[in-house]
Amino acid sequence: MGGLVVVFEAHGAVEPRVPLTEARVLVAGFGVTGRAVAGVLAVPGRVGSVTTAAPAGGGADVELPADDADRAALLADVDLLVTSPGFAPRHPLLVAAGTAGIPVWSEVELAWRLRVDRAAGGGPAPWLAVTGTNGKTTTVEMLASILTAAALRTRAVGNVGTPLVEAALDPDLDVLAVELSSFQLHFAHTVAVRAGAILNLADDHLDWHGSMAAYAADKGRIFERAQVACVYNVADTATEHQVREADVAEGALAVGFTLGAPQPGMVGLIEDVLVDRTFHAPADAAGRAGTAAELGTLADLEHLAPGGALPPHVVANALAAAALARAHGVPAAAVRDGLRAFHPGAHRLSQVRELDGVHYVDDSKATNAHSAAAALAGFPPGSVVWIAGGLAKGARFDDLVAQSAGRLRAAVVIGVDPEPFTAALARHAPKVPVVVVDPGDTGTVMRRAVDAARRLAQPGDTVLLAPAGASQDQFRSYAQRGDAFATEVGALATYA
Ligand code: ADP
Repeated sequence: MGGLVVVFEAHGAVEPRVPLTEARVLVAGFGVTGRAVAGVLAVPGRVGSVTTAAPAGGGADVELPADDADRAALLADVDLLVTSPGFAPRHPLLVAAGTAGIPVWSEVELAWRLRVDRAAGGGPAPWLAVTGTNGKTTTVEMLASILTAAALRTRAVGNVGTPLVEAALDPDLDVLAVELSSFQLHFAHTVAVRAGAILNLADDHLDWHGSMAAYAADKGRIFERAQVACVYNVADTATEHQVREADVAEGALAVGFTLGAPQPGMVGLIEDVLVDRTFHAPADAAGRAGTAAELGTLADLEHLAPGGALPPHVVANALAAAALARAHGVPAAAVRDGLRAFHPGAHRLSQVRELDGVHYVDDSKATNAHSAAAALAGFPPGSVVWIAGGLAKGARFDDLVAQSAGRLRAAVVIGVDPEPFTAALARHAPKVPVVVVDPGDTGTVMRRAVDAARRLAQPGDTVLLAPAGASQDQFRSYAQRGDAFATEVGALATYA
């Protein structure tokens, strides 16, 4: 016999020992999520009691315990722990809760449990949900725009705007367009979306999840119990794999989206027309396999082309949003109208200025290699002065640079630790001029980066801020980094 083997149960207890209305709930984290959760739970009658816990100075009821004894003491009076995205599964508080048999829910699970019936009848508003490494916010907002064009009352919820837990309590919404992160899905246990999509799967947040396999599996949880459709990316086999792994409601469809010509059961592109070959006709309609519905054309997306080039991933997001909307029965014309009406959020490939023939584009939200690659792919060869760098989060950038080298006129590297970026550039783009911005004076980093980029750019080029790293080493957030870029670009004087 060997020694004792301890098996860590990734998803332990799911149900509190007492009904939710009597449960003593501990809310871990007091940021955006924790505050929204605590606010909703404070309403009399929802739960037995609520306590918030956060690091010292975080404004919560109690400080996060520092040792095992204090953790055990805190958890002794807890029936349910609702956690925030900042807490990785191996956080000692979550591990201790698991060991004590206390269920751990994310805001998403809580929102699902608290859903109210629609005032208009028909039970709670169904969820159409999106996950993936990149493109979630964009796609959810495209989806909300399409649903609105179909005269449905909806909200894009999750990472932007209204917290999900609040939207779930609104009886006046017909349907929710929900962004789900892998962090939230990890601790979601009973959610059953009407239709869900995984846009793509690339390395990200591996520090939180522990491995790519664990990250992909958490994303895959979006499909569990799906009612009508699981939408996957035909070009990304890992997303299709997650559909195959999922246990879905009987009759739920696997629907691929593709930038190529779609097969029956997919949505995709035939020349410049977006077409639906899944929801265009009833399942038993004669001649179904040979027909398709037109959802719109690339011209309906042309307002989303920074500097005139429509990036392929924008079309992919539109197709995924369309597939989810169609799974909900939205007419083809509303897809077209919703896409026409959609405008992307700030810092996502938005052109901030054209000066002396050079376009300045802010894609500060590109905080990993996969999103930066998508941004660079939209530009002609040799035309981009790329501002890159920031927190690498343990990633390397060899594939990104190898794949994108042909687009680059030059690179300007920011960030406290430029090495992962300069090393990849030296290996895979040795002929591309590289300027490293001295990290010494954080306050002027962006000014010096923009000045350097401007000197390197030629008329017709694009200066693209798509850093591939997170911002917090030199900026408060990706938004502040993008705002700093816009400010410095705005301050440039014309050569003329
Ligand atoms: P998320 O909510 O997943 O972070 P966003 O819509 O905020 O996604 O976009 C994040 C970044 O990824 C932006 O830089 C954007 O230009 C880029 N992006 C958007 N859609 C995709 C996609 N389908 N594939 C790769 N990158 C994308």
